[in-house]
Amino acid sequence: MAKELRCPKCGKPIAELRLDAIKASLEEQDRKFPAVKFSCPSCRTVLGAQIDPVAVMSGTVKGLASAMTAKRPQKPSDGKS
Ligand SMILES: [Zn+2]
Repeated sequence: MAKELRCPKCGKPIAELRLDAIKASLEEQDRKFPAVKFSCPSCRTVLGAQIDPVAVMSGTVKGLASAMTAKRPQKPSDGKS
């Protein structure tokens, strides 16, 4: 059987981490990134955090979709001559 996972702060067993959305930002930049944090369900101590993978994925899909549907600028004299 797998070793029981316990919270390093309160020592209670963790069956399921609590997941919360949070914003992350780079120092001295206004841009905010969607992130998630994982915390202990008993004492709410934050045990880990990362960039929100779902938001990153949907952002990538949106970016791709708009890139594919965007009108390309017409360049009649485009290079290869
Ligand atoms: Zn805890």
